[in-house]
Amino acid sequence: MLRRTFVASALALFIVAVFPTSFGCGNGKSTLYRIDCEFDGESVCGKETVDFFNDTDNAFNELKFNLFANAFRHGAKYAPISEQYRYQAYKWGENYGGTEITDVMVGGEQAEYSVGGEDANILVVPLKKELFPNERVTVEIGFKTKLAKVVARTGINDDTVNLANFYPVLCGVENGAFYECNYYANGDPFFSDTADYRVTFTRDKDLVVAASGELVSETESNGKLTSRYTINSARSFAFVLSEKFKVISDEIDGSEILYYYYDDASAEESLATACSALEFFGDEWGRYPYKSYSVVQTPFVQGGMEFTALSYICADLESAAYKEVIIHETAHQWWQTVVGNNEITHPFIDEGLAEYSVVLFYEAHPEYGFTRDSLIKSAEQTYKLFCSVYAKVVGNLDTTMTRSVPEYSSEYEYVNLAYVKACIMFDYLRQTVGDDLFFAGLKRFYDENAFKIATPESLIGAFERAGANSNGFFESFLNGKAII
Ligand SMILES: [Zn+2]
Repeated sequence: MLRRTFVASALALFIVAVFPTSFGCGNGKSTLYRIDCEFDGESVCGKETVDFFNDTDNAFNELKFNLFANAFRHGAKYAPISEQYRYQAYKWGENYGGTEITDVMVGGEQAEYSVGGEDANILVVPLKKELFPNERVTVEIGFKTKLAKVVARTGINDDTVNLANFYPVLCGVENGAFYECNYYANGDPFFSDTADYRVTFTRDKDLVVAASGELVSETESNGKLTSRYTINSARSFAFVLSEKFKVISDEIDGSEILYYYYDDASAEESLATACSALEFFGDEWGRYPYKSYSVVQTPFVQGGMEFTALSYICADLESAAYKEVIIHETAHQWWQTVVGNNEITHPFIDEGLAEYSVVLFYEAHPEYGFTRDSLIKSAEQTYKLFCSVYAKVVGNLDTTMTRSVPEYSSEYEYVNLAYVKACIMFDYLRQTVGDDLFFAGLKRFYDENAFKIATPESLIGAFERAGANSNGFFESFLNGKAII
C-alpha cells in the first residue's frame, strides 16, 4: 500500500493524512487453489478446492483460513477502515458484508469446521488424520461473500467493484503454526505463502474484469461471461470489475502489462510508467515472473494497494502522485509478492523496500524530475517533523522499527517508521557500504528469499553475506538509536 507520496511530502512537508480440472496442475510441491465462483452484483458465491502441500517441517491436525471479508461485517472488532477514512469510505452510509461458509469437505467427506479467531476471521478445518511434511490434503469449501458498499480493498463503489480477499485464504505458516491475521485498519494485515491458482469467474458480460493471473479462455452463455485464469507462485488473487473500464496494454519481457482505467487523460503515460517500472525492477533484481500485470485505476482511500500481478491505483491522485503510486505498487511485485514477509509483524521490510525502489527508479529516470538527493532530503524533513511533533504532542517518541502493526499508536507513527524511516535507512546503508556492496546485498536478499518469507534476520544476513559489515548499522536503525 502507499499512504504517503514523496510528491505530496515535497509540496506540503507533512504526511497527507497521510474448476475445471482441465487446466492441469502447478508443480508437485505447491499448494493449489481451484476457485470457481460467480458475481451476481452483490455477492461472490462459489467453491474453492485447496490442495494443500505441507512443505514445512511440522505436522498439522487442522488447516486455518483467513476470512478477510468478515472484517466488513456488522460488529467486527477490527474495523477495516480507520476513523480517519471512515466518512470517505462509507460515503453511502454504514453497511456491511462478510463471508458465509456453506460447506466444507476434507478428502471428499463432510468436515466439522468452525469459524473462530479473535474476530470471527478464521475458518478452522480439522483434518481426519495428522498431515506430515511433504503430504497433501484436499479441502473443498463452499462460500458466499457479500460485498459492502464501501471504498476499500473489498467492496462495491460507484465506479468499480474491488474484489480482493473475497475467498478463504490459507493462513501463512510461521514458526510451525498458522498465523491468524486480524484486519488492522493500519497497514496491510496480510501474510501468506505462495500458491498456484486456477480461477473460474462468471459475471454479467458487460463487466470488464481486471484479474491477477493470465486469462486462459472465455465462454459466453445467457448474457454471462465465464473467464478462466491461471497463475503460479502467487500470494493472492484479486479482481477489479467495471462497466466503465477501457484497457490498453503493452509487452515487457514476454509479460503482458495491462492498464485498466475509466478517467485518465494521460492513460498512455500511466501505462508507460508501469512498463518502465516493471522493466527497471526486473533488471535490478530478477525478471518479473508472471505472464500478466494489471494496473487498475479504482476508487481507494489510501494511494494504492498491491496484490500478486495486480495493483489498485487510487483514482483521485494528481498526475505526479499517481505515477509515484504506480511505481511503488509495481515495486511490491518484487517486495511483498516474490519476496514475502509477514506484513503485520515486519511491515518495514516490504514498505521500506518499495519506497526505496521508487527512489532508485527516479534516480535512473531523470525525466520524471526527481533526484535521489531531493527525495531523501524530503524524507528526512518528513521524518524530523514527525519526531518533533511526536516528542512535543505525544510526549513519547519511540523510533523502534521492529514493532508489529498494532504496536504503532497511530497511522502517522506507522507511516513514518515503516515507510519513511525505512526508506532513509536503505539510503544511509548505501552511503555507508557503497553502491557495490549495497546492490550486491539487496540482490542477494532477493535471490535468497524469492517465493519464501523474509525476516529482519534474513535481510541483515544477506547484506552480511554479500560482504557488507552492516549488522551494527541495521541494529541502530531498528532499535531506534540511529540519529537522522
Ligand atoms: Zn506499499
